[in-house]
Amino acid sequence: MKEHKQIKDWGLGLKGPTIIAGPCSAETPEQIEQICIEMKENNVIPSMFRAGIWKPRTRPGSFEGIGEEGLKWMEIVRHHLNIPITVEVGNAAHAEIALRNNVDVVWVGARTTVNPFAVQEIADALRGTDIPVMVKNPMNPDLDLWIGALERFHAVGLTKLAAIHRGFSDAYDKRYRNKPNWSMPMHLKRVWTGMEVINDPSHIVGKRDGILEISQKAMNFGLDGLMIETHHDPDKAWSDAKQQVTPARLKEILDAIEFKRPLESEQPSERLNDLRRAVDHMDDQLLDILQERFAVIDQIGAHKREHHLSVFQSDRWKEVMESRTQKGVAKNLSEKFMKELLYCIHEESVKRQEKQLRAADTVKK
Ligand code: PEP
Ligand code: MN
Repeated sequence: MKEHKQIKDWGLGLKGPTIIAGPCSAETPEQIEQICIEMKENNVIPSMFRAGIWKPRTRPGSFEGIGEEGLKWMEIVRHHLNIPITVEVGNAAHAEIALRNNVDVVWVGARTTVNPFAVQEIADALRGTDIPVMVKNPMNPDLDLWIGALERFHAVGLTKLAAIHRGFSDAYDKRYRNKPNWSMPMHLKRVWTGMEVINDPSHIVGKRDGILEISQKAMNFGLDGLMIETHHDPDKAWSDAKQQVTPARLKEILDAIEFKRPLESEQPSERLNDLRRAVDHMDDQLLDILQERFAVIDQIGAHKREHHLSVFQSDRWKEVMESRTQKGVAKNLSEKFMKELLYCIHEESVKRQEKQLRAADTVKK
């Protein structure tokens, strides 16, 4: 597996959960200062301050970001809050300007992650530095594209990496601005051990209501932090006005969330150990049963070969799928889970039997 450094080892004095807050866009020095002052007044100092300097707008004509000038205002943040600064970079020029202005952490936006050319350009521009990079998921739910972007940074020697789950564009489901897909960050964590995923409820929900609920969900799943757009006067924000919250509201949200702990940081209790041992034992039993089941499948395969029957038999498949799904649902297993499980088992059975047929054919020839 590719080695990378977790947020606590980025040398920025951060410890989890990582809370990133700040406006969608840097607008004016007064705006930046007011947000900082209100964060202080409300006693809500995030782990990092975010501000969009270049804004990837869906349609031209809306505010496209203040540009390099806004980076100078980040001194105001350092003065008031003394916390690391993170900004979005969308191309090599942005990356170079961010480096020149001592930005602490950069992030790659969802519209950039979809484009391997742009990601590579940014990676090349950052080569030779050890700036931390956070990669937002691409607009579409494509895990490989997300991992691929992280790999491009890793390949140029950047090891301080994290991911951000900001939901996925969906043409039909309008409950969210960007629909969350919790299996995807979970799967990223499975395939890239130790990869931390920050949740961005602001861009998922697209409005102020619901940010707390999604944040709590993310913490329940074991994600590693939150990025919440925060503005002193959200209704007047130059971008994403509907979804930004005031520092006072940010404080309420963070106080209301029940942060869950990763178990690695402590000794698991005896009770948890016992339960896990029970699960280990049942998994062994499951594997034994699967082994037996496939042994029978192989005998069926031999029979099909002898009688010149094709491997895939639609009627039988339909019957198996329907009856087992029904039984599973009666045992409180979800229909989706049952279908995926059966599909997986059937696929493996069919492939084994087809392989048997091929082996027999080769012997004949
Ligand atoms: C943002 O964070 O302001 C932003 C543009 O987000 P995304 O790339 O998730 O759309
Ligand atoms: Mn935004």
